[in-house]
Amino acid sequence: MRALERLSEDEARRVEGVITDLDDTMLDQGRLGEAAYGALWRAQRAGLPVLVATGRPAGWGEVLARQWPVVGVVAENGGVAFQRVGAGVERVERVSAEERQARRLQLACGAAELTALFPELQAADDNETRLSDVTFDVGERVQLPPDRVAQIAAQARSWGFRVTVSSVHLHLSLDGDDKASGALWFLQQRLGLDPSRARGRWAFVGDSGNDAPCFAAFSLTFGVANVLPALPLLSRPPRYLAPGACGEGFVQVIDALVKNSCNP
Ligand SMILES: [Mg+2]
Repeated sequence: MRALERLSEDEARRVEGVITDLDDTMLDQGRLGEAAYGALWRAQRAGLPVLVATGRPAGWGEVLARQWPVVGVVAENGGVAFQRVGAGVERVERVSAEERQARRLQLACGAAELTALFPELQAADDNETRLSDVTFDVGERVQLPPDRVAQIAAQARSWGFRVTVSSVHLHLSLDGDDKASGALWFLQQRLGLDPSRARGRWAFVGDSGNDAPCFAAFSLTFGVANVLPALPLLSRPPRYLAPGACGEGFVQVIDALVKNSCNP
């Protein structure tokens, strides 16, 4: 990892868009600060499209895609995405309605069995608007020790679930996508971008273990300062490290890219 200030003008100028995580990257303890929201608008003005890639639920994705100056929102760690089209929002996902229903039933059974084995598990408070996963709170209102979270994740994986752990949540899913494959699929399907080019030309900003697929998939990646404790969970660390944590770090990354854009 290199310090953000070492990002070269050439490297910044090659960036055609930014994919960003939400929690503990753009958001500070779940809240969107004034500076981070301003950075989204500056990116848009500079011609730098922003795509959100989050583990948060479909219900959030639909609202954010409608209200924020972003090209889309990939929610549930790649399971479902939203794009603003005209005055409305379109949902895009790879599986049919019938398959989604069957998976939801399997997920509910798996979640019940997991809770029976690990009684300390509590459902996250955002499950009601989820479509492709079931989510437990491990670091938001409830704090579970990392070794216990790892044990729970291993159990669920042994049953065939895809398990994703972020700074706040543990997600069970039967979808194959992760944040990177979901984001690349969205960029290809909805914006017509070649996935190989997108890997090289779209930057990523994130902070935690569920960002590992994006840190590995994209050439130019940025960690906000609070990514440091998550480094053991990342197969590949971010290329650059912002000095600020959470929203402050996000603003620093966007400003470093906007400075070198066509319309700074
Ligand atoms: Mg995060």
